[in-house]
This record gives sequence, structure tokens and C-alpha cells, in this order.
Amino acid sequence: MARYTGPVCRLCRRERTKLFLKGAKCDSMRCPMEKRPYPPGMHGRGRIRDSEYLVQLREKQKTRRIYGLLEKQFRSVYAEATRRPGITGENLLQLLELRVDNIVFRSGFAASRNQARQFVRHGHVNVNGKRVTIPSYTVRKGDVVTLRTKATGMIVVRHNVDTIDRQIPAWIDVSSNEHSITIRELPIREQIDTLVKEQLIVELYSK
Ligand code: SF4
Repeated sequence: MARYTGPVCRLCRRERTKLFLKGAKCDSMRCPMEKRPYPPGMHGRGRIRDSEYLVQLREKQKTRRIYGLLEKQFRSVYAEATRRPGITGENLLQLLELRVDNIVFRSGFAASRNQARQFVRHGHVNVNGKRVTIPSYTVRKGDVVTLRTKATGMIVVRHNVDTIDRQIPAWIDVSSNEHSITIRELPIREQIDTLVKEQLIVELYSK
């Protein structure tokens, strides 16, 4: 499945907020948002009139970029969210959180969602004992996600386990020794700390 391969920090600058797409660099002074917290390009520092449409569009783009999806992929997740019972915006965030690459990122085994996605694509992740190589694979309540033996010996994984101090969400259980993650329950909105206003995305797509 296609993915964005262009400059990443540019996306944060475009959204005028840190999206934490690059692991350790995001928390350091090397983060471009520290020096240039305005949109890229010639008119980046120009005055922008925030219309209602622009606010909604930016919120959608921000969410899409945080989770690393292209427009078509994001649209199909949204379509699934509308089909499910409940509040569409909350369903959308829940579906994004349940992607297997996001689970690996949330557990702290990967420094960024991009890296987690690569672990999955390279066949380093099992779900319930079976190898899964599709980053968008949706996990369910009770599923157990594990890193395969080869991955647990990788320097990058060992480094992540030793250095990443990320808040583990309450809806997953992580065993760093066994390199496994159990989906205890499906996340509700209050348990998802992604700073997005999902209602604006619903309003945009409802036009
Ligand atoms: Fe965004 Fe991280 Fe790049 Fe900073 S370092 S601009 S937070 S991706």
C-alpha cells in the first residue's frame, strides 16, 4: 500500500504543530518546529484567513498525517467509521488506533509510527501467532500482538525498549520482556490522547 515518502518535518510546519513523526528528534532542539514554527514556502509567514473550510481541512490533514495515511486510505477508514454504530468521529479515531502499526508504536517498541509500519511491512510482527505484514490490519479486543524472535534481537528494538519512556494507554497491556501487547479493550475517546477535533473531520466530509 502506498505511503507518503516526502519530507516529514514539512508536514508539521504545514499544520503549525508538532506531529511527532520522527521519534527522538521530535523532542530535541533539532526539531525544525523549534526554529521555524510557520508553514513552509515563500508565503509561509504571510497572513492566512482561517475560513471554516480551512479549519476543517487542516484538522483532517493533521489527523491523516499523524497516522500516516494517504487521502484514499483515510477516506476508506472514514467510510467504515460511518458504517459502525455510535459517533462517527469517535469510531474514526478508534479505527485508527486499532491499526497494528499504531499498536506497535503505542507499546514503545517503535520510535515512530513510520518505524512501526516498517516493522510490520518487514514481517517482524505477529498477531495471535500469525505473521501480519499489513500495517492497516485492524486488531480486535483480546488479540495478542508480538514481535517475532528475529525482531527482539534487533539493536533498534532493544534501543527503543531501553530508551523510550512513552505513556502506555490503559486499553493495552505491554510486556517488554516478552515483547507482546494484549488488546485489553477497545479504546474510548477519553483514552485516545491524539490532539484532534474529530468533529471537524465529520463536518468536512459531510459537506
Ligand atoms: Fe515534526 Fe518531529 Fe520533525 Fe519536529 S522533528 S518537525 S515534531 S517530525
